[in-house]
Amino acid sequence: MKKINFFAGPSILDESILREATDLIYNKKGLSLLEISHRSDKIVELFEETKALIYDIMQINRNKEVLFLHGGASLQFAMTALNITRNGMAGFVDTGIWTKKAIIEAKKVRPVQIIASSEQENYSFIPSIENSMLQDLDYLHLCSNNTIYGTQYQKFPKTKIPLVVDMSSDILSRQLDFDAFDVIFAGLQKNLGTAGGCLVILDKKVLNQKNNNLLSMLDYKVHIEKQSMFNTPPVFAVLLCNLSLKWIKKEGGLAVIEKRNEIKSDLLYDEIERNKLFECPINKSDRSMMNVCFDALNSTTETAFLQKCEQNNIVGIKGHRNRGGFRASLYNAMPIKSVRYLVEIMQDFEKSFA
Ligand code: PMP
Repeated sequence: MKKINFFAGPSILDESILREATDLIYNKKGLSLLEISHRSDKIVELFEETKALIYDIMQINRNKEVLFLHGGASLQFAMTALNITRNGMAGFVDTGIWTKKAIIEAKKVRPVQIIASSEQENYSFIPSIENSMLQDLDYLHLCSNNTIYGTQYQKFPKTKIPLVVDMSSDILSRQLDFDAFDVIFAGLQKNLGTAGGCLVILDKKVLNQKNNNLLSMLDYKVHIEKQSMFNTPPVFAVLLCNLSLKWIKKEGGLAVIEKRNEIKSDLLYDEIERNKLFECPINKSDRSMMNVCFDALNSTTETAFLQKCEQNNIVGIKGHRNRGGFRASLYNAMPIKSVRYLVEIMQDFEKSFA
């Protein structure tokens, strides 16, 4: 029996994607996609098609730039800080480790202001902000879904300044007005395939056009001009992204994916609320559909439940070392039946304590 994979990322992929990728990579007769030049028609077509799928599935304006870059989401912490410069500071809402890391990077190259933070409450909620707090900022950076702490923006602030959003762990998990964001970035290794690349969607207008001293690899203008092919691009990661996007379309698009993700997270949160052995300290209205974080009532129960999961083929349920407890990641490819199975195991576990 294949293990049921609740890891936070790299994470579960639909089996059909893995099969298709294998066929495309292992080409008995001709050359594999991984053995040919990135300038060849096949690879240029792959990139063009993947971009077109992004425009189509996300319904974004064709004026937006779509890039596939190396360096994962972490490089974008630096690139956004270097490229979106006027005379002001970079503003951040601190909702967990991933915004903390972005703040550390930005601080190395420019002044930074933390507009709001939920650190004092162990990042168990999303702090609200108002436009009056954003004066003197060049942009505001948010993380839409906090992979480690299990919070997620349900509504985004409408800012007058450029809005930069790290969507690494909930990209394409729900319908949003994606044009409302000036910069979106997401490492590819969760809902978009595998590690090795980062999707960046940006409105060129927010870039400092005069900033010509940037290192080429860190300059969005260079990557835009070269259509993500300034240097040899991450072909394998883009191939997996292409297949993941086609899979989303085949499944019925974002409306269907969102509904499924709602069903999955409702099933699990309902069980956590009902079950006497578990609790979820995350503010109800800020709970994530992608990463469900919860706790056992005590450490003995925690160890016992981890053992129970292991015995029952469930992997990746242990919480991140910074938060502890449990975390079940319910990315797009996680079937509803697997969440039902986890719920049954939780119910069974409760009975064994009765
Ligand atoms: N942001 C978020 C929200 C993440 O979950 C992660 C990785 N889990 C990152 C950034 C960092 O991504 P990468 O490893 O691709 O740099």
